[in-house]
Amino acid sequence: MLSIYGHQQIMYTKTLHWSVWLSSVVVTATIVVGWWTVAGSDSALPANASVVNSHEVKVVELRGVWSGYRVEPDWDAAMQKLSAANFNAVFPYICSPGIAYYHSQVLPISQFAQQHNYLTEAVAAGHKYHVAVHARILTLEMLFAAEQTKSAFAAAGRLMINSQGKTAPWLCPTDPRNRQLLGRIISEMVTSYDIDGLQFDYLRYPGRNYCLCQQCRRQFAADTGAQISQWPQDVLPGGPYATQFNGWRQQQLTVLLSQLVATARAVRPDIVISAAVFPRWEEHSERFGQDAAKWVELGLLDFVAPMNYTTDRLDFATWLLTQRKAIGSRIPLVVGMGPFSDACQFDGPEQLAEQIQIARSFGAGGFIIFKYTEQFAREYLPYLAEEATATLANP
Ligand SMILES: [Zn+2]
Repeated sequence: MLSIYGHQQIMYTKTLHWSVWLSSVVVTATIVVGWWTVAGSDSALPANASVVNSHEVKVVELRGVWSGYRVEPDWDAAMQKLSAANFNAVFPYICSPGIAYYHSQVLPISQFAQQHNYLTEAVAAGHKYHVAVHARILTLEMLFAAEQTKSAFAAAGRLMINSQGKTAPWLCPTDPRNRQLLGRIISEMVTSYDIDGLQFDYLRYPGRNYCLCQQCRRQFAADTGAQISQWPQDVLPGGPYATQFNGWRQQQLTVLLSQLVATARAVRPDIVISAAVFPRWEEHSERFGQDAAKWVELGLLDFVAPMNYTTDRLDFATWLLTQRKAIGSRIPLVVGMGPFSDACQFDGPEQLAEQIQIARSFGAGGFIIFKYTEQFAREYLPYLAEEATATLANP
């Protein structure tokens, strides 16, 4: 195994411009050390074990794009282009807990989706061109919801509140009414639509000082028996219950995820469930309550997609290494790459092709690119089709 990857690394280094030679040596060293560590343990995946559904193991590299609810010029044309470039999955944003871009019976429907059911259109086009459609839900943030929807949730005390008493347009994950609402959304999507997968995005807190709503305060004290004398100081960094409160926050999200996954799998045992998560798992689980390693360990996901948005080769390789070690052989690591993300801007498709090669050298089960746009279709897809995705995902 090492010799195969050693060969790939030589090829990879040769293609780099001399000015990045030094950083490529560092990255290559990280990759080789990483592989030595991963391959030396029994947690290593076989070199070709790229799996898209852990219920039914298939040797397929997942090649996906994140997208909005609609694409230009339409879903049919986009799916055709993706399929022609040997891509096999799309992750459209289809709802938040405050608005839907499909004809929901549970959520307010966006004015842009009155004439179009974007989920039906994406699924029909995807299946026509053999591209899997994973409906992506912005789980807790009420992004793009109407002001009156957000106000109604705030008035009902269902939103997160931070340590300064400020309300944020995010559902408190502890509130049973919110858990029930999310369950109904998931149930509706898996019952009424022939989607291939579900992806949980924004399943997190906005930051370290959330959620301190009255319900969370009561529930934390009840669950842990903590004797809080001063809210919120006692549970914030430096306070006597800071560590315990952070663990409890993580648990709230993990329990919510497990409930939603159970709801989905009860209707569709074969559905592929994933989560888009932040890249630096230890630090980000503290800050955002998102314990991705625990979600993997508990078997809640069929694959995990960390958003490794960076142009820094060493960061990219280091995050991959850490993630691979945390995941072991449990599920595939599907690497998020962000040529059009807020976090970074790529120089061009060569940079993306290089990240795909690095991800493969870590035994990744695939990649998802942020995001599908006309520019991506025009400038990136043709390049990838000649290069990183020139061969079929399913050899
Ligand atoms: Zn709360």
